[in-house]
Amino acid sequence: MAHRIADRAQGLRQSDIRRFSAICAAMKGINLSQGVCDQPAPDAVKQAAKDAIDADHAVYTNLRGIIELRQAIARKMKAFNGIVADPEREIAVNVGTAGSFACVCLATLNPGDEVVVFAPFYSYHVGMIRLIGAEVRFVNTHPPAWQYADAELAAAFTDRTRMILVNTPANPSGKVFAETELKRIAELADKHDAWIVTDEIYEYITHDKPHISVGRFPEAAPRTITISGGSKTYAVTGWRIGYTVGPEEVIDKVACINDLLYICAPAPLQHGIAAGLALPDSYYDEMREDYRTKRDLMADTLRQIGFHPYVPDGSYYMLADFGEGRYRDATHAAESILETTGVATVPGSAFYPNPADGETQLRFCYAKKMPELQEACRRLRKLPSGSKTW
Ligand code: GLN
Repeated sequence: MAHRIADRAQGLRQSDIRRFSAICAAMKGINLSQGVCDQPAPDAVKQAAKDAIDADHAVYTNLRGIIELRQAIARKMKAFNGIVADPEREIAVNVGTAGSFACVCLATLNPGDEVVVFAPFYSYHVGMIRLIGAEVRFVNTHPPAWQYADAELAAAFTDRTRMILVNTPANPSGKVFAETELKRIAELADKHDAWIVTDEIYEYITHDKPHISVGRFPEAAPRTITISGGSKTYAVTGWRIGYTVGPEEVIDKVACINDLLYICAPAPLQHGIAAGLALPDSYYDEMREDYRTKRDLMADTLRQIGFHPYVPDGSYYMLADFGEGRYRDATHAAESILETTGVATVPGSAFYPNPADGETQLRFCYAKKMPELQEACRRLRKLPSGSKTW
């Protein structure tokens, strides 16, 4: 029956992120695999969504999202990201950041175009680019600081490059891109007339390094499309509210494609996210501190069992290396740890163009309620510590 499936879909299979999440759910384990972020959402966000349901905000919204949300996004983009965007013309609300990215890819890429992507990568980015027939050119970043060679970046651009994708803070490495890196990316994108698409969904979760949006630089602004959303910031990953900010001509197409694919994002939940965007700075400061505590607990636990954690500067994921000789490969490590402790992780191989590069790594998501994370760490500490010392 394979011939009845479109060529573009033949290679698709459930991601490792979801696979380990599903096995974990079936065995009622603790899910440190998929970045589900199962922590309570702020009351103001929940209340505004409930009020919107009670007020019968139940029908299709504007294809770009409700204007109150777009205005709130515009205020936040100016204050936090340093980007001035007109809520009528330069902002579109989408169905999650994945929905934003799908619309952006469909609006900007032709089959055969090339996209420059940093590795390790988030597999959903690469999956979407390939689904529409574009090709990926990888630039490798290396632990512990997740730096890359400038020559490799420059060489990744060709006359077919249509886009460079930035993900800062990055999933899965936690890399927070520096101003010099972003300015160099802007320079190369300009030279090759490519879009800069930047997924900043973890923008509020940074430690010691500032979050910088490439779209704030005047030289980059005309070719930068910034995507983000409410999922991680307000712990509502299942609400699916994302947004896209960029030049009018691309936002216009993103809005039309959003309309074709989804009609609009869930109406009452748009009201909830608008309320979230009005939360005071203290909310974000507390969230950041909470993640720092969780990050440090995760790293300490992994060190105690002989893993080498690459402590992230941002996001809520941690890649850790378990060395040679302890497990056959990353999938075996994830399966074995899930079986013996009931704690799910993602094999590092899922994030590398050459899976061999991630065969001694696992990704741990620590966006959990503290008691659950503590229980996961208690279980992990029971693993025999490896022979390798770091
Ligand atoms: N972004 C989250 C992760 O990397 C969730 C992704 C997903 O469910 N596809 O785990």
